[in-house]
Amino acid sequence: MGKDDSGSTKTISKRLRLIRNIGIMAHIDAGKTTVSERILYYTGITHKIGEVHDGEATMDFMDQEQERGITITSAVTTCPWRGHDIHLIDTPGHVDFTIEVERSLRVLDGAVAVFCGVAGVEPQSETVWRQADKFRIPRLAFINKLDRVGADPTTALQGIVQRLGARPAALQLPIGLEGRFQGVVDLLTRQATVWRSEDLGATPEPTTLPGDLVQAVEQAREELIEAIADCDDEVAEVYLEAGELTVELLRAGLRRATLARKLVPVLMGSALRNIGIQPLLDAIVDYLPNPAEVEAIVGHDHGGKEVTISADEKGPFVALAFKIAREEGRRQTFIRVYSGSFEAGGEVFNATRGGKERVARIFQVHADRRTRLEKVTAGHLVALAGLKHARTGDTLCQPGHHVVLEQIDAYEPVISMAVEPETQREKDKLQESLEKLADEDPTFRYGEDESTGQYLIRGMGELHLEVLMERIRREMGVGVRVGRPQVVCRETITRPALGVVGEFQRQIDEGGLFGQVRLDLLPLSQGAGLRFVNQLPAGILTAEILRLIEEGVREASSSGVLEGFQVDDLEVRLTGAEWRDGESKPFAYKVAAVNAFRDGCRQAVPALLEPLMAVEVVVPEEFMGDVIGDLQSRHGRVENIEPRGELRVVSGVAAMRDLFGYSTRLRSITQGRGTFTMQFARFDRLA
Ligand code: GDP
Repeated sequence: MGKDDSGSTKTISKRLRLIRNIGIMAHIDAGKTTVSERILYYTGITHKIGEVHDGEATMDFMDQEQERGITITSAVTTCPWRGHDIHLIDTPGHVDFTIEVERSLRVLDGAVAVFCGVAGVEPQSETVWRQADKFRIPRLAFINKLDRVGADPTTALQGIVQRLGARPAALQLPIGLEGRFQGVVDLLTRQATVWRSEDLGATPEPTTLPGDLVQAVEQAREELIEAIADCDDEVAEVYLEAGELTVELLRAGLRRATLARKLVPVLMGSALRNIGIQPLLDAIVDYLPNPAEVEAIVGHDHGGKEVTISADEKGPFVALAFKIAREEGRRQTFIRVYSGSFEAGGEVFNATRGGKERVARIFQVHADRRTRLEKVTAGHLVALAGLKHARTGDTLCQPGHHVVLEQIDAYEPVISMAVEPETQREKDKLQESLEKLADEDPTFRYGEDESTGQYLIRGMGELHLEVLMERIRREMGVGVRVGRPQVVCRETITRPALGVVGEFQRQIDEGGLFGQVRLDLLPLSQGAGLRFVNQLPAGILTAEILRLIEEGVREASSSGVLEGFQVDDLEVRLTGAEWRDGESKPFAYKVAAVNAFRDGCRQAVPALLEPLMAVEVVVPEEFMGDVIGDLQSRHGRVENIEPRGELRVVSGVAAMRDLFGYSTRLRSITQGRGTFTMQFARFDRLA
């Protein structure tokens, strides 16, 4: 991946320079919803604000989201500020859906982390922060709720250093705190601003710097300048030569340091009291990157060659479908355009799946309304109507100019659950709902078990599936009964089985029905999947029969002989076949292949492969021993321990089946201070 750190705005088109693609990330309750709503309000996108009520502790987060569901019901909302288009991308509040979070992090260029002015950096915000680190996303911080009793920005500033290992650069000092919080002083310009009334009409009023703050402002300003000089050579040079540090020079230096992720500019306010939102919007424009200032994205062309796609509206059209959603019953494909431009009514080629589709309309979404666009250019995020086949994660490009963008890490659905409709009448509705969910969420799969009439759904974790089932009940109004969550395993073979004969023979009215094949089954190394090799001399069987034999093997491999899991990591060789004139029928060879495969697996000493998860636990040092001991008792292996500020990051692997209920367990052994994430690592045999 080539880093485009030229920072040169000369080569970047004006249109690109006026785009900001950002997300707001926050610990639940820090004020993400309130901040987002204020942003929409002050950019003129909404005209009324649905006040967020104090969440009742008994409500679960889905209820809350529904109850609130006012602001960003959409994957992206576009709001104008100072001539720029800020595309506000929805980042899911719940950290358990790692993939949802990662998917949104993938399409944004910068982020605003909202912290509570009382609690500071809470454990959960660390998880999201680390994901943003992984995607190398420049960030701003907004310390919210400075009007609350006990508020003090230093708690959050220290937390950013100690817990997140980042370097904050406070751009403001608060004027008053708690009940007397009225505004902020901009340290670069020394301009004091207050918001006098508490209603939404509150506008920033410039005012003279309160006398009692003069000294504190000078000191904080000096610290800010030192931090910028420390991280930016241009500013450092002027600073050391005691030259004139103009506000423009400092802003430019701060912008470079932010883009290089050396500094995190910190703003302050109270979203609920409408204080500090406009300066936050200014900072988004001033310090977060435009689409041409982030690392260019990588893809592969038709021949598998790596290509770098730079944000250039004159280049070939390349876009990523990052979310599929149904709004008012219509299927919408949200895309981020990485390069080129595209006009409504045109055709796109789906490079991930193959096939062309026509885009009927292009929309820019603004909270509750949308505007139709004739054309979309590089850097923008829009919704497309008319696409039936595109799925989340697909690359859409210009026909004849095929590129597939790198996939987000592969995620294995490792948990399954049996599901059935409450009444048989609802069966069709359930099927339809499952189809919709699978369409929107590539980590969710389902299949029907014909013997029981139940559906088997598979997903990333217990909570993932629970939330989806809740959506089926509430949004789609289907009554469902669900079984207990189960671990999804794989099967493999541990020895070769050679010369396994499979046969299918029937006497029917019209004469015989016959097929016979001979297979060798050989174990392969982990992750190799299933390989089928035809070793028959040419001319013995027709191409159609050969295809059916392979199809039979693959079908049989979807349900192993041990517990019916997918069989993987083996090579199946077709080494022999018998032909009987008049009796041999293509279909019989497929059944013969299924039989040979099953018998072969039984002979080849089959084994179960269980999903192992890469686990990362972050805890204060005093709990480290307990956490390690507990992990080891769960087939876990600790591989690394690393300090982060005052905390320790313990990483290792553990079996999925031992991780049921782990978050509750971790909470109890760390008095609520530990957090963890897990991600599928591999399938393996458990010792
Ligand atoms: P989210 O969970 O991060 O989306 O947080 P919300 O925006 O829903 O806010 C959580 C709670 O904090 C709500 O009751 C808000 O009214 C309240 N809240 C949000 N911002 C502020 C603020 O600046 N000051 C105070 N006192 N309360 C706030």
